[in-house]
Amino acid sequence: MTTQEHSVIAENLSKGFVQGEEHITVLEQLNLTLNYGEVIAILGPSGSGKSTLLNILGLLSTPDEGTYVLDEEDTSALNAKERALLRLHKIAFVFQAFHLIDHKNVFKNVELPLIYQGVPPQERAERVKAIIERLGLSHRLYAKINTLSGGEKQRVAIARALVTEPKVLLCDEPTGSLDAERTQEVIALLREVTGEEQTTIVVTHDSDVARECDRCLRVESGRLVEDTRYRPSANTAQRVKDSSVVPVHAIEMNRPRWFVASIKEAFDASIHRMRRNLFTMFAVALGIASLVLTVGLTATISGQLSDAFDVFLAQRVTLEETSKTPMTQEQILELEQSAPYKNLKNLHGVKNVALMKQVVSGAIVTSAPVLGQANYFQGTTPVDASVYRATSSVFVAQGQNLIAGRLFDQGHSQRADQVAVVGEGLLQRLNITWSEGLYLYVKGVPISIIGVVSENPSLSETYASIYVPLGSKLTLKDAGSISTEPLKIILATDPGATNQVGQEAVYTISPDRPGKFTAVLPPEPKTLRNAVDTQQKNLLIAMSLVTLSIGAIGIMNTFLVAVIERRKEIGLRLAIGTDPRGILLQIAAESIMVSVIGTIAGIVLAVNIIAVVCLINQWTPIIGAETIGIGLLSGLLVGVLAGLYPAFKASRVEPVQTLSEG
Ligand code: ADP
Ligand code: MG
Repeated sequence: MTTQEHSVIAENLSKGFVQGEEHITVLEQLNLTLNYGEVIAILGPSGSGKSTLLNILGLLSTPDEGTYVLDEEDTSALNAKERALLRLHKIAFVFQAFHLIDHKNVFKNVELPLIYQGVPPQERAERVKAIIERLGLSHRLYAKINTLSGGEKQRVAIARALVTEPKVLLCDEPTGSLDAERTQEVIALLREVTGEEQTTIVVTHDSDVARECDRCLRVESGRLVEDTRYRPSANTAQRVKDSSVVPVHAIEMNRPRWFVASIKEAFDASIHRMRRNLFTMFAVALGIASLVLTVGLTATISGQLSDAFDVFLAQRVTLEETSKTPMTQEQILELEQSAPYKNLKNLHGVKNVALMKQVVSGAIVTSAPVLGQANYFQGTTPVDASVYRATSSVFVAQGQNLIAGRLFDQGHSQRADQVAVVGEGLLQRLNITWSEGLYLYVKGVPISIIGVVSENPSLSETYASIYVPLGSKLTLKDAGSISTEPLKIILATDPGATNQVGQEAVYTISPDRPGKFTAVLPPEPKTLRNAVDTQQKNLLIAMSLVTLSIGAIGIMNTFLVAVIERRKEIGLRLAIGTDPRGILLQIAAESIMVSVIGTIAGIVLAVNIIAVVCLINQWTPIIGAETIGIGLLSGLLVGVLAGLYPAFKASRVEPVQTLSEG
């Protein structure tokens, strides 16, 4: 129970406006004292200053002079935020034009002030349902606003005003858009819901409305005078003084929840305005997609090895004998059986080890035994080839697959069989195909060809060669030039292991004298990096930024238009009492949400395009965290920058002006 009796004490209020050249005084030295529990009518002709007074009482506008004490609190010293907070907790408005938010249903419209107050959801739902039931609208609880009749809309607006249990309920021509019957209903309702600790002010020019109120005041030349023509009618005299219906409870004034509430409202509005924002999102998506595409594709292309040549070579280390007096045949065979050679296989990162020694290069090879005569048999046109002694592992180490016959083995080597495996390129040059029992003649010396291996295009120096077992006794004197090529140990390695293997292998193969072999490492892999030069990349990024800017301007434009279009909604939120910072935050957050959704769509688009391009080119896509990060960050930046100005405009909306519009 309150101990004081006056809800409103206004003394010597004056308010004027500048209209064009002249200054007009609307209110002049106006005095007003209202009691709790009262429903009063304020009458006066159009333009007499009724709305001006109501806006001052509602803390939407400040008087030029005079004092206004609301619920024992002098309001003249309050700043904008404190006024908003006081409005949120102690004042409520009902307008002629209802000012309901179209994208929210009945429940959510009524719930709005409680969200701004920071009331927890459970309690919110209970209070909203209770007040809606009280106003006889339970059957329309989740109805869309545009399906309601005028009378129903005004009842929803009254429910929204009452749900916070305000001290002062300010109604500006609440029945102006209603027919006589609805007018009666609404006034009776206002009469009924005004509790003992509340005051309701009804501005009207309808004498029937005035007749239903406890007192009637009239604005005359800027002052209020008591109008005694309207006596309270019999039924309103026995008004329901039931404060338990809408109990006034302690107001928590010190905990504004505008931040959370505004984010929530932004989310809500974004979902409902998704279709309107679709094209704006699309513009952002395109900008972000082209940016991510440029950055991502450049990274992907730069990361590609130029071709399979590099991939193969990048996984091969060759140990070459350094001595000027090369090893003899016996020493090579010893080496192959030695522990150091076998240990190479166990080095970390080594997949395969092979030994090879060129015997002759440029040996004359024919497919028939006749050589050195004027006429060769048909099909025996000689070709030049190199002959290598090698372990049978050489083919795996060189990436050559058996395509016909078989490989030689340890037995062939030990018996020094006169057998060989040839690269298929040699048979192609000789223009013959392999069949069991094929012999080739190296300067007339017959060699049985037991198998054919494919050629590795990465290894041009051993293309179309002849391989004989390591233990072969072939000397092939004057078959070609005796080779000076050093003995080679080929190590096939894991990707990226070449440096490590190269360093360790020279010690492993010759622990006492590491200089005996030198490791030949593959060249730095050549990449496609040069394919996209910096200039082109910068040009592409510049173009992406242009597209992105168009997206940003799109957002800004959309939201500036939206702020104009929604200024009644924004005005209403401010009138309810949200902090102006809350409006700024809400619009900025909406802009960021639009931008972020567009950004995500853009990134998804770009990643898919990169994947397809990689699939076609058989590249490995390289989409790093930083590529995605650049996209996300740009999108966020666009949202913030584009939303800031519209948000600022929104926070500067004048509720007094927007709400008086029809
Ligand atoms: P009522 O509500 O009684 O019809 P108002 O209070 O709306 O009257 O307006 C009173 C007078 O003050 C009118 O002449 C109106 O043109 C003027 N007025 C109200 N608001 C403004 C304003 N923001 N700027 C200039 N003149 C205003
Ligand atoms: Mg008015």
